[in-house]
Amino acid sequence: MRVIDFHTHPYRPTDLAPATWQFITSISPAVKKYGDRLNDPHFVADVLRADGVDHAVVLAEHCPATSGNVRTETVLEICSIEPDFFLPFASVDVNTDPDPAGLLRSYIDRGVRGLKLYPSYQFYYPNDPRVYPIYELCQQARIPVLLHIGSSVMPGTRIKYCDPIHLDDVAVDFPDLTIVMAHGGRGFWYDVCAFLAAHKPNVYIDVTGLVPGKLLEHFPDLERMSAKVVFGTDWPAMPKSVKFNADTIGALGLSDAALRRILRENAARILGLPRT
Ligand SMILES: [Zn+2]
Repeated sequence: MRVIDFHTHPYRPTDLAPATWQFITSISPAVKKYGDRLNDPHFVADVLRADGVDHAVVLAEHCPATSGNVRTETVLEICSIEPDFFLPFASVDVNTDPDPAGLLRSYIDRGVRGLKLYPSYQFYYPNDPRVYPIYELCQQARIPVLLHIGSSVMPGTRIKYCDPIHLDDVAVDFPDLTIVMAHGGRGFWYDVCAFLAAHKPNVYIDVTGLVPGKLLEHFPDLERMSAKVVFGTDWPAMPKSVKFNADTIGALGLSDAALRRILRENAARILGLPRT
């Protein structure tokens, strides 16, 4: 089955913190195999297409205090080179951008398809009132917000900000905003994420960074909640390949309809892509 990868990162060694880059090079077969050839967006798109991917979300990462500083402008530029394949997501930071909402407005005008927030790397709770104007803009523009929700081993990260319970407020206060929890609460919040995704119409789980063969351990009701789960990988910061992860999920014993929803259809709907 051809898939949509809801969660990839651009190859930007010099924009990342040394520890982040060291971590990626230590785990990524793609970085080991291709190295700086990954600077070419055409090459990256071809690698991912060969792995069964039809579209890939590319995430900016504006976390100057911790993991790195891949600005949205960079991601827009990369995506413009393969516009039918890559979908740019913006990143703004309420702690370091003087006018994060104004900045996001400019990125929306330039065509971003969503926003990535990194509460544990940017140091705020998702229901911080300072983030509300940003949610308001995303809701108006009908673009999803993807938040890092789960543990992380990067130096300087403050995991407390990623407790998914804080999204309960956001889901209630912005009923027309699509909220996607990247990593599904990895480590110790799987049940909270599953509850939110099951009971809040606008809340989803992105399975990036989870061992695909263990998804049913984390989410025993995966079949029943398959309309609320999207496939993502963190590529190239992943230990296997996109195809390996998709095939492993394909072998979990889920129905064909559930698999289609998780690997493709839910992401297409959230991203406003035509159904195929
Ligand atoms: Zn990621």
